[in-house]
Amino acid sequence: MPEHSLRVEPIPALKDNYVWMFETAPRHWAAVDPGEAEPVRRYLESHSASLSHILLTHHHHDHIGGVEPLRRQFGPRVIGAARDRHRLPPLDIAVQDGEQVEMGRWKAEVMAVPGHTLGHVVYRVQDALFAGDTLFRFGCGRLFEGSPEQMWESLLKIRALPDATQLCAAHEYTLSNFQFACFLEPNNTDLQGLLPEIFQQTDQEQPTMPWPLGKEKQYNPFLRADQPAFASTLGLSGQGAAQVFASIRKKRNSF
Ligand code: ZN
Ligand code: FE
Repeated sequence: MPEHSLRVEPIPALKDNYVWMFETAPRHWAAVDPGEAEPVRRYLESHSASLSHILLTHHHHDHIGGVEPLRRQFGPRVIGAARDRHRLPPLDIAVQDGEQVEMGRWKAEVMAVPGHTLGHVVYRVQDALFAGDTLFRFGCGRLFEGSPEQMWESLLKIRALPDATQLCAAHEYTLSNFQFACFLEPNNTDLQGLLPEIFQQTDQEQPTMPWPLGKEKQYNPFLRADQPAFASTLGLSGQGAAQVFASIRKKRNSF
């Protein structure tokens, strides 16, 4: 691990969510997308710590459900997208694309990534990327509000980040996404070769993230919609990247 690497901890919550935690000051932690309060509370108690900040990526209930109980108990500063103020819990700091927020010893950099929802943002803290429901291992979020063009643009912004960026997504979908990726490319031997490693990770029910973004650039089908060879495998030669992306996303919905 490089020295600037942020230590992050995924706390399992609800069915398959992760609440990502990191330390902002001695005995103070931040929580990303606390869909549920109880596991976060237990985590803080076991570390004799308090909650200094909550970062929200978007307004869906499995990402904000724990905010109010945690606010009452710990009084954290709640950070979320200004444009989604009307449907997020009350915000102490409302942020926009490109802004930076000070959080104890760290700065969080905000990137707007419309697609899953129109107000979705992701946060970069040191080398960690808190991606919410925008990018998963081998996958991406469903398009509830945005167009394929918007989501593709958002994924391109994420793809431009350094390979060493650590992907911290809000759901454990790695196994099913991997199966879908293999279904798309049955002849991609590099991809199929990952099978033992993925099974090993998911069998033990351990979180499969943080995970280097560089590997996602290599294997995540949703980040490869502009590769001519990949489009040709899918029978989509000559189509624009956003169209190829839209077609993969559609296939995933019915997989
Ligand atoms: Zn969501
Ligand atoms: Fe979600």
